Amino acid sequence: MNKFEQLGLNESLLKAISDLGFETPSEVQEKAIPLLLEDDTDIVALAQTGTGKTAAFGFPLIQKIDPFNKQTQVLILSPTRELCLQITNEIKLYSKYIDGLYTVAVYGGASIHDQARDIKRGAQVIVATPGRMQDMINRGMVNIKNISICVLDEADEMLNMGFYEDITSILSDTPKDKNTWLFSATMPQEVARIAKEFMRSPQEITVGHKNSSSVNISHEYYLVNARDRYEALKRLADANPDIFSVIFCRTKRDTQAVAEKLIEDGYNAAALHGDLSQAQRDGVMKSFRGRQIQMLVATDVAARGIDVDNVTHVINYQLPDEIETYTHRSGRTGRAGKSGTSFVIITKSEIRKIHAIERIIKTKFEEKPIPSGMEICEIQLLHLANKIKDQETDHAIDNYLPAIFDILGDLDKEELIKKVVSVEFNRFLNYYKKSKDLATQSSSSAAIPSDGTVRYFINIGARDDYDWMSLKDYLRDTLEVGQDDVFKVDVKEGFSFFNTNAELAEKVMGVLNSVHINGRKINVEISKNEGGRSSGRRDHNGRSGGGRSGGSGFSGRREGGNSASGYRGNRDGGFRGNREGGNREGGSGFRSRTASTGGSDRRSSDSRDSGRRGEGRSTERRSSGFESARRTPRRSND
Ligand code: ADP
Ligand code: MG
Repeated sequence: MNKFEQLGLNESLLKAISDLGFETPSEVQEKAIPLLLEDDTDIVALAQTGTGKTAAFGFPLIQKIDPFNKQTQVLILSPTRELCLQITNEIKLYSKYIDGLYTVAVYGGASIHDQARDIKRGAQVIVATPGRMQDMINRGMVNIKNISICVLDEADEMLNMGFYEDITSILSDTPKDKNTWLFSATMPQEVARIAKEFMRSPQEITVGHKNSSSVNISHEYYLVNARDRYEALKRLADANPDIFSVIFCRTKRDTQAVAEKLIEDGYNAAALHGDLSQAQRDGVMKSFRGRQIQMLVATDVAARGIDVDNVTHVINYQLPDEIETYTHRSGRTGRAGKSGTSFVIITKSEIRKIHAIERIIKTKFEEKPIPSGMEICEIQLLHLANKIKDQETDHAIDNYLPAIFDILGDLDKEELIKKVVSVEFNRFLNYYKKSKDLATQSSSSAAIPSDGTVRYFINIGARDDYDWMSLKDYLRDTLEVGQDDVFKVDVKEGFSFFNTNAELAEKVMGVLNSVHINGRKINVEISKNEGGRSSGRRDHNGRSGGGRSGGSGFSGRREGGNSASGYRGNRDGGFRGNREGGNREGGSGFRSRTASTGGSDRRSSDSRDSGRRGEGRSTERRSSGFESARRTPRRSND
């Protein structure tokens, strides 16, 4: 008997759960489901984002519905349209084996008449945003006088958004003897007030610490001058070639502006904010879920509750006004047991906000320097080398090989390798060789190692199931060193970096280079990025990136790699996924098919479209002259 059966769920649900691939209930599910199934009770459940709250209320409410009764029996209120659609979708999946059970989403920005009609057809479950729900009640379009359950999902957020009045008014339209199930990540006073005024002796479920952040999220901040914020954002993206991220800005305007700049600079980015139409937002979310967008720039409101798995990074382009909001932001990553990283880009004056957040999330931030241009070049180069190594080949290429060998056959191995990686590397180098160091001003901080630290490259990474915490543990154990002797562990897909003090270098090189992991020999090298610091220092050693580029020369074309990389495959084995490549392949006929996103969002529309179809926007718009992560299909989607 699996764990879900033990919770008392019926056959149709168990079948749907098995289709979803859920094997064991999460903590909040384990606590809430039996309670809600057995008793007709009110509950207040506090659990962080990503802990599976939707199923915690979704499963029991479905089991409690009478599918033969066509009246509305359950009302779920949620703060945003996105979340509303997401919950609706989940409920539909959970109830797919139950004939006659219908769920309708009710939210602003879509036809109220269509929604009313769908409800009239006999929807037992309505998932609604408070504003639209109130509107429907006022117009007599919906009857919630006989519901038996009302779920308030993300109650803290609904109240944050000023829905208190709508919620209380809606609740007053529901029967007294219904049950109210309140789910929330945090428990601010307003939530307590709702619980007190509108609920009858609710049972309380708490998972983890109240208001605390998920343990598998690491928090890092980067100190920059205000004017370098955007450049810092790009560097963070470039230093994480497989990034799949949500970037938070404070206002709609900033959100739009940052997204536009990123698109202009060639990143697969899009904006998500309240000024977009529903269709535009749906389009953005679809592309994001499909990983055609790797950098989703969003306002807090628009991104609330977005449940997209495998988000690798949350980037706080600006800190939120209310520091409590930080928990919500960082909760977009590290979901469903995965690890994730939350970056905060701050100026000096904001440091005290970091400390305030640390107290709320009960977790320390790590201060890190913005990677230097040369560090990024190194990361990208190693990433590329790993990608080439892992590249699967297709027999289709065999026909062309004789001609290729005619051209390249005379090159010796070393020369060939240099040339192959230089095709892309030169573009990074060209962009970054003159770049300034954004990290210098943070050098006053104690978090940066003093001279005498060594940075290492190691050929194991996320692909070997390490995250920075587990790799740090592994290194400490293997090296038999103390708690703080290994630091600045940066895990990339196929490799990682870490630092130790110089005294340990000999030991590190000796011990680790004789270890095997998963049958593979570990390879550790001293990285050119001493201490994970700026390129300036490196130059003193005469080991700057320029010297290592293998003399293959600069291509002199900013878009140099484009045509060469046109055949870069993606996970479907197609030619998608490469924007420029697609461009050259001339597939632009698809572009016009996507609904225009209108207004100032035309460019994002383009990008979204091109992402989906795998063709690029015109490369001329780009200014950085290369792309890194953004056009590289992510391994995790393979
Ligand atoms: P929350 O509402 O608490 O933020 P969600 O309900 O959106 O969290 O769930 C987060 C993610 O975890 C979703 O992708 C969901 O499908 C997944 N999930 C939920 N429960 C389980 C489970 N028992 N096993 C595996 N994945 C789960
Ligand atoms: Mg949720």
